[in-house]
Amino acid sequence: MAQAVGSQGIQAHVPMARLLECVHCGLCLPACPTYLELGHEADSPRGRIHLIRELVEGRMPLGRDAVRHLDLCLGCLGCETACPSGVHYRELIEGARVALEESYRRRWRERLLRRFVLEVFPYPHRLAALLWPVRIADRLGLGELLRKLPLAEMVPPRESRQQWDPPTLISARGTRRYRVALFRGCVARVLFPGVEAALVRVLTDNGCDVLVPGEQGCCGALAAHQGDRVRATASVGAVVRSFAEPVDAILVTAAGCGAFLRSYGHWAKGTELEETARRVASRVRDATEFLSGLDLPRPSRPLGWRVAYHHACHLAHAQGIREEPMRLLRLAGAELVPFEEADLCCGSAGSYNILEPKLARRLGERKARNIRTSGAEVVAVANPGCSIQIRAALRRVGTPLPVLHPVEILDAAYRGNAQLGSELAAAPLSGQPT
Ligand code: SF4
Ligand code: SF4
Repeated sequence: MAQAVGSQGIQAHVPMARLLECVHCGLCLPACPTYLELGHEADSPRGRIHLIRELVEGRMPLGRDAVRHLDLCLGCLGCETACPSGVHYRELIEGARVALEESYRRRWRERLLRRFVLEVFPYPHRLAALLWPVRIADRLGLGELLRKLPLAEMVPPRESRQQWDPPTLISARGTRRYRVALFRGCVARVLFPGVEAALVRVLTDNGCDVLVPGEQGCCGALAAHQGDRVRATASVGAVVRSFAEPVDAILVTAAGCGAFLRSYGHWAKGTELEETARRVASRVRDATEFLSGLDLPRPSRPLGWRVAYHHACHLAHAQGIREEPMRLLRLAGAELVPFEEADLCCGSAGSYNILEPKLARRLGERKARNIRTSGAEVVAVANPGCSIQIRAALRRVGTPLPVLHPVEILDAAYRGNAQLGSELAAAPLSGQPT
């Protein structure tokens, strides 16, 4: 049922000054995945900014139609990169979503699904328990059954999910140059522990002590994307306390977490933790960003793979990190092959592929078809959500390529493990095209 929200409610979360920054030029439209797929102005950045302004000015009730257009936004921030006027779209959509969750009653199925995401994914033990049936089926070789299980697409191949239970300090080999902390997050640690292990190998081999604070949970991004301010700020507080110790950098292998960690000052604003949160945020570095500044040695046996690099939105658009991962891939001896729309969202977008599966699937297959035409042997991506999404979409379009983090590829080059990519492609869960 359509339900009006008072303009007062949304005004508290969306500053009018930010809305007025948009001059309605429309230059962001070709960068917006939902506009490209759906072709509606209301599903474009300009349309959504107009809609939010109508809500703030009280000229439109927050009903089902308005909520759909806001829900369909991926939060990919492709529009921010494209906008010549410097519109802070992220603040607008995040504020609108907080107001929406405070004032609008969703249908029970939507509430249930959203609750499920927030009750499972931020908690590594719950997520791991949920995936046990899939793992068992995988071990028993029940491929067909496996593909029918819900969430089966999330489980990466065996080789990339060796359990990894790190101590709280892993010392550098040789002379220590840096002292860094590893942010493990929630989903990445359960589904991609191999990426963390690869990162720690490269770091310690190159003079870094790595601290792994034991008490660390979700960064809060999943809650923030759903407009759940209470859960998001609780996560922010917990992470800030765990990472308060001074280090040279706090390293992140998941672009979505990194982007959110950098916004901690905003989320802790006005609380006793604000200053510490800003300090923590200022130390956050994507793993690829940090490694590319280390003057790493060239591997003795370069890999020679043809690699398609997908720009994860929360790395390229939200953090402005584009060159660094590609620099690491070149160092590993990869040949980077270009493809169309390399920085268009793949449809993963946090929990978007669970909450909006139809459009997410379309975007995933659009990405996979573009990659297929590049002739790549391996796909590189620095975000676990994109990795799951692209891997599944590649299978569906009949091109089951391995999808690896750039740090895994670099580590494979140092270890002379040229087989890693083909092993992953052949692993049971990559399956046959459906
Ligand atoms: S968000 Fe930026 S690019 Fe898009 S219509 Fe507004 S001013 Fe133009
Ligand atoms: S964040 Fe992404 S999906 Fe949302 S309006 Fe901007 S470009 Fe479109």
